[in-house]
Amino acid sequence: MGALPHLLLFDIDGTLLNTGGAGMRAFGSAFEHLYPDEVKGRGGVPDIDFAGSTDSGIVMGMFAQLGIVDSQTERERFYETYLGLLKANMDSPSGNGSLLEGVAELLERLKGRYRERKVLPGLLTGNIAAGARVKTDYYGVSENFHFGAYGDDHHDRNQLGPVAVRRASEFFGRDLSLAPVTVIGDTVKDIRCARAFGARVLAVATGSVSLHELSGHEPDILLESLGDVAGVLAQLQLS
Ligand SMILES: [Mg+2]
Repeated sequence: MGALPHLLLFDIDGTLLNTGGAGMRAFGSAFEHLYPDEVKGRGGVPDIDFAGSTDSGIVMGMFAQLGIVDSQTERERFYETYLGLLKANMDSPSGNGSLLEGVAELLERLKGRYRERKVLPGLLTGNIAAGARVKTDYYGVSENFHFGAYGDDHHDRNQLGPVAVRRASEFFGRDLSLAPVTVIGDTVKDIRCARAFGARVLAVATGSVSLHELSGHEPDILLESLGDVAGVLAQLQLS
């Protein structure tokens, strides 16, 4: 049977890429578009804490603040509007998003390890699955991720680890619950999410959280960026 592959669970925003605010703007615009009176009544779209949050968690919080009754139907209506706006924003020439430093090379190097069945890269993100697809497709990296756990699987990020491992097992055709797992993310919520299911965590300070703040939460590996790809692979014991 051979050794189990190392599951690498990548966060998207602030870790793999930066949409230049396209996602946040799409969220705000979707609320304004769908619930103009409620938003006006609040004097604008209430502040949203995006970093590390799940999309469904954000939607639930906003519905509560705006007095919208939460239901699966209402969430789906919101997501449909959000996705249309997200796609439009990604294509807007004013966007200044990009893949983050080292990511393209790292993913390329991981392809070889994947073919050797040494690693299995996937996504563990607060984005809804369709939003994750829009963002990773836009930057041409979606094919590198073979499974994922998403913000529409659960509103609590700490519940997403086991979902990711289950999807990895389904994809791989073998139980991977004892495989080594590393979560790679840019926020304290990524670190907590990894701890919640006993995974290792590589924290990278390319998002909105400083290296100093991340270090206070004691990730197993802490990096300024993924720019030193050889160093990242060495830290992941994949050299
Ligand atoms: Mg992030």
